[in-house]
Amino acid sequence: MSVIDEIKQRLDIVDVVSDYVTLKKSGRNFKALCPFHQEKTPSFFVFPERGSWHCFGSCGSGGDILSFVMKKEGMDFGQALRLLADRAGVTLMPKGKERAEDKRMERLYEINEAAANYYRHLLLNAKAAEMARSHLSGRGVSQEIVESFQLGFSPDSWDALRQRLLGKGYGEDELVAGGLVIEKEGGGSRDLFRNRLMIPIRNDEGRVVGFGARALDDTIPKYLNSPQTAIFDKSGILYGIDRAKGAIRERGLAIIVEGYMDVLAAHQYDMANVVASMGTSLTQKQVAIIKRLTKNLTLALDADAAGDEATLRGLDLARQAFSERLTSMPDWLGGTSKLRGNLRIILLPRGKDPDEVIREDPEAWQRLLDEASPLVDYFFKAVTSRLDLTREEDKSVAAEQLLPLISEIEDGVERELYLKRLAGLVGVDERTLAGKAARLRPTERERPKRAGQKAVSLPQALRHPLEEYCLSLLLQHPELRQRGEELSPDYFEGTENRELFLAWRDCPSVEMLRQSLDANLHEHLDSLMKRVLPPASERELESALADCLRRLGEQRLRRLKALEEMLISEAESEGDINLIREPVETLLQKALEPSTQLKDVFEKGKRRGAQQ
Ligand SMILES: [Zn+2]
Repeated sequence: MSVIDEIKQRLDIVDVVSDYVTLKKSGRNFKALCPFHQEKTPSFFVFPERGSWHCFGSCGSGGDILSFVMKKEGMDFGQALRLLADRAGVTLMPKGKERAEDKRMERLYEINEAAANYYRHLLLNAKAAEMARSHLSGRGVSQEIVESFQLGFSPDSWDALRQRLLGKGYGEDELVAGGLVIEKEGGGSRDLFRNRLMIPIRNDEGRVVGFGARALDDTIPKYLNSPQTAIFDKSGILYGIDRAKGAIRERGLAIIVEGYMDVLAAHQYDMANVVASMGTSLTQKQVAIIKRLTKNLTLALDADAAGDEATLRGLDLARQAFSERLTSMPDWLGGTSKLRGNLRIILLPRGKDPDEVIREDPEAWQRLLDEASPLVDYFFKAVTSRLDLTREEDKSVAAEQLLPLISEIEDGVERELYLKRLAGLVGVDERTLAGKAARLRPTERERPKRAGQKAVSLPQALRHPLEEYCLSLLLQHPELRQRGEELSPDYFEGTENRELFLAWRDCPSVEMLRQSLDANLHEHLDSLMKRVLPPASERELESALADCLRRLGEQRLRRLKALEEMLISEAESEGDINLIREPVETLLQKALEPSTQLKDVFEKGKRRGAQQ
């Protein structure tokens, strides 16, 4: 969660606005005399559930908690953010410090990239790398894969890399911070990786953040990874994600294997939607990366590790993450997908890893994929295989562990099937189990609360997926600039989005844009730049943007319309329709404006289309 999201989530907009304005409760909302224009009857409303405010009087302004403070205090975005951060107890990076931090990180990326280039050069050319080259060809790794994954070789030396990087002007402390050399006892430092096959690990932007290194003799450990650094957190990275994300999105499925070699094999055989968890059991952060790309995840499990606690814990984590409604996943048109995740398990033949299966017979791998079992089936097997179901206490353990899973299955028919199966296994009446399962099922009302407790995502009301999608399009596709410039900043209700849009309009390049933004918006900018958009032709992009603009306009109208209806019904319940007649009329007038603007956008678009 970004600091901006966190501030919005922690603060109650009613509290903040109350510091400036005397609010009166009005149904579920609050109203007051507008602080931004002179009036006698209140037309300024605060909507706590949406975290927004709106004036239905002549000034017609509105927005979120940040825009309120900006306007009321006459502050710029950064100042308002700092004020609210203080109040929320959220720590922002002091101005300037974040820049310095950015620079430091940038150096660490550069160092790792330089190391990757050096190792790669050695693998391709050095005589000493002969063993590494024959190891790779012995395992059937193609030259194309060696090059596209930039595999390398670290020489059998204590300071070859160290000397080289020092020579390029990096400091010893930077090399240590970058995870490439380690401090020696009694001073000085030495290379961490020696005589190993080097596998650069890249983040989803394709930047080298660390290495996996395989021993070429019987040195222990067989695999050595970069230590945790400011840019490398093993639990938050999936190996191969930079090359796999497009395919994952396109095929609507991510496959997670364990090792580097498994990923290399899969990609070599044109299964580019495969990534590796790098030996650990699945973490929350890794699941989150996948969740942004697809709702379908298949995990390849080693037969030996399949039943152990760590694996089951990882699976349970993935299950929880995937069974939440995927509200944060916008579809191509910027709407949000309400579908639930689909999690499947491949159990590998004993003693084999995907690397071997794929290289021996790619079709056998495909069959495994086709036959991947739903997670619940897998849990049935994993749980019952460790129990003796002729014993009463084991039966109750089975019921205890499996019922919660079954109770979470959305589809009623499917749920019944599993209940029946469990009833058969433990010899308990099916109806008794169904009753228990029903009690475990969270009610619709409890569900958002549960999601909130885990703080996985911001409540939908405080997010603006369509606005963010629109900005991603504009930021990632400079060719859309002209059309994007026709957009009114009013379309953006989220202040962070509006700020970004305004800055984008003024800055021809992303670099300039970044420099002109408050440092606390960099994270938001990065996430929009990183968002994966489906590949599309220029024409498709234009129509996607036009669609997006139309929907933003509609959304705004709908928002106004809903507010209008709410106002009317409240006025009716208070028995005084006159109180709001004026606001509603202004509102309707306002509502017409955006549609005129939209019409302009479309007319221009059509004309341009006709000229082509
Ligand atoms: Zn006003």
